[in-house]
Order: sequence, then C-alpha cells, then structure tokens
Amino acid sequence: MKVAFANSATMPTLERLILRKGRWRKVPLCVRYGIVLHPELGPTLIDTGYTPETTQGPRSWPLRLYGMLFRPRLLPDGQIVSTLQKFGLMADDIKHVIITHFHADHISGLRRFRNARFYVDQDAAQSVLAGPRFANIRHGSFKELLPDDFAERLIDLKAQPRFETGNALPDGFDLAGDHSMIAIPLPGHTHSHFGIYFPTLERPFLYATDVQWLTSAIMDDRLPGFPSSFATANTTKAAAAADIVRQYVCAGGEVVLCHDPKQTAWDI
Ligand SMILES: [Zn+2]
Repeated sequence: MKVAFANSATMPTLERLILRKGRWRKVPLCVRYGIVLHPELGPTLIDTGYTPETTQGPRSWPLRLYGMLFRPRLLPDGQIVSTLQKFGLMADDIKHVIITHFHADHISGLRRFRNARFYVDQDAAQSVLAGPRFANIRHGSFKELLPDDFAERLIDLKAQPRFETGNALPDGFDLAGDHSMIAIPLPGHTHSHFGIYFPTLERPFLYATDVQWLTSAIMDDRLPGFPSSFATANTTKAAAAADIVRQYVCAGGEVVLCHDPKQTAWDI
C-alpha cells in the first residue's frame, strides 16, 4: 500500500488567527488531500482539497463568499488532475473517497469521481443532505459540491469493524478490513470530524486532518481563540482532540495535518 499527500492550494493566513499569541504575519497554509493505492480498495482519495469548483465558474453566492473569505490560491501542480497523472491514473479510476468532514476545502472536487463510493460518517452526510441551507452555510458545507447521486454511493464508516489502536488514539473503524486504514473519531472541529491512522506502514502515522491548523498549536498548547473558535463546532471537544494528538506525538507518534505548511515525509 502506498500513501501520499498533495497540496491543492495555499491560503496566506495571519498566524495570530490560528495560533494563540502568534505573530502578526501571514503563514502560507496548505490544503492537503491524500491518495492511497490500496490493493483491495483500489485507488482511494482522502478528501479532495480545493478545486476550481469552489473558486471559479457558476456557483451560489454563499460559495462565492466562502472563496472570498479564505482566498485559496490553487496550485496547478497540486490539483487532483496533476496528482493522478503522476500515478498514471484518471478521475474515473478512483474507486473510493474517504470524506473526513464536509467543509468545502475537503469536498470541493467530489463531483469528478463518477465511479467512486464515499466513506462518510452517515449522520454527518445526512445532516448535510437534509440540513437547512443556512445551517450548511454556517458550517462551511455546500451541498452543490456533492454529486447528484451522492446518497446512493455512501459507505458508513461507523459500520466498519472496530479497531483498538493500543496507544493514545481512541478506538477507530477499520475501513479496508485489513488494519491498514483506521478512521479515528476526533470530534470538535466538526461534530463528526475524523482522522486516518495508518498502523501497518513501515512508518506508521496519523493524518489528524483539521484537529488544528498548525502542529505547534497542538504541541505548545496554543489553541487559537476567537474568531477561529467561532468556526469550531465544539471547542471543548476540539481541545480534547488536540490533547489526544499531543499524547500520541509525545509517545513517539507522527502526525500530518491538512493545513500545516511544514513539509512532511508523505508530501509529494
Ligand atoms: Zn475543516
């Protein structure tokens, strides 16, 4: 099994907004997504990063507003098309997409994957599909980014076998049934936000997704306050999730975050 991460965009963001007592200077945040070449599941993505569906062409005014707020600069070399090309793949070759949560920067490109099934937290998916438009906008989820037949292509990750990590991480759900990819609930950022743990790799690691923007916020206990906390669904749970990740790292574990600009061993 091969696991790699690509960076779809940069988002210059004031450090003070994402790190308590951070500097008044901009940090070029990344927007990562993963690609996993799994022997049984086939080519699988972890989220999609930002794609032009969020930033260009016809789209709703709330989605336009979202793009204006975060101002992502898409990186041509990190876009999904380019990444798939590097692996000799096309969008139709993708068999599964694991959706860690429904923020636009994680689901932007979903409509491209006509042959994929989607691993989701079924409750989260239902609340985006059935939720009132205002609630979705408030939570940064945009139904227009989902394929029309999305509801028929879902796999509930919580219905997969339980897996005991045996370390600081809580029990997870064994997505492929071979202990290679474990969905670890890390709620707080959104109510059903989760990470992916790869325990069987030669160098195991946790993709902790959006537990925080910067690793230093977790390791130095510098979680940001308002306005970042306003974008967090449950700040108490988010702090508990950061605590879990900190304990995991302190015990020798390695972590990748979606947005931390620091280069990782798994970046393409
Ligand atoms: Zn997010």
